[in-house]
Amino acid sequence: MKKILVSECLYGGRIVRYDGGEVPENDARFLKWKAEGRLVPICPEVFGGLPIPRPDSQRVGDKVLTGTGKDVTKEYTSGATETLRLAQEHDVVFAIMKQDSPSCGSKFIYDGTFTDTKKEGQGLAVEYLRNADFKVFSEDDLDEAERLLAK
Ligand code: SF4
Repeated sequence: MKKILVSECLYGGRIVRYDGGEVPENDARFLKWKAEGRLVPICPEVFGGLPIPRPDSQRVGDKVLTGTGKDVTKEYTSGATETLRLAQEHDVVFAIMKQDSPSCGSKFIYDGTFTDTKKEGQGLAVEYLRNADFKVFSEDDLDEAERLLAK
């Protein structure tokens, strides 16, 4: 069966987000793939050893910093590395990752000023996946993901 890597906060069932909140994806296609056992849930930031909840963090240049300036690049890098390892181990056909996250964002991320401003960009785990030639969608791109899965 073709597997799909997914952000664990979209998969649901375990609280993993920085704010302790939940954002499960309830699209019927996503739930069908989940029921089929096709989805491989991953949370890069938890893989990196960060707590739940944890401080809001953003990509700033080549680093990832919290709002108070703590450098968490090492943790984010560790999580991105493990995410890529699991994508390769499960031989996933693509990934569906939570938009806007400094790890999982695939089109936009927050701009590093902590002023609630987004810019075009990608999270660190997505960068690692794309550098290894994995296709990455956000939860808003399920039409495209469905078409690719059908190929
Ligand atoms: S790192 Fe990714 S999977 Fe984990 S909570 Fe953030 S967006 Fe969700």
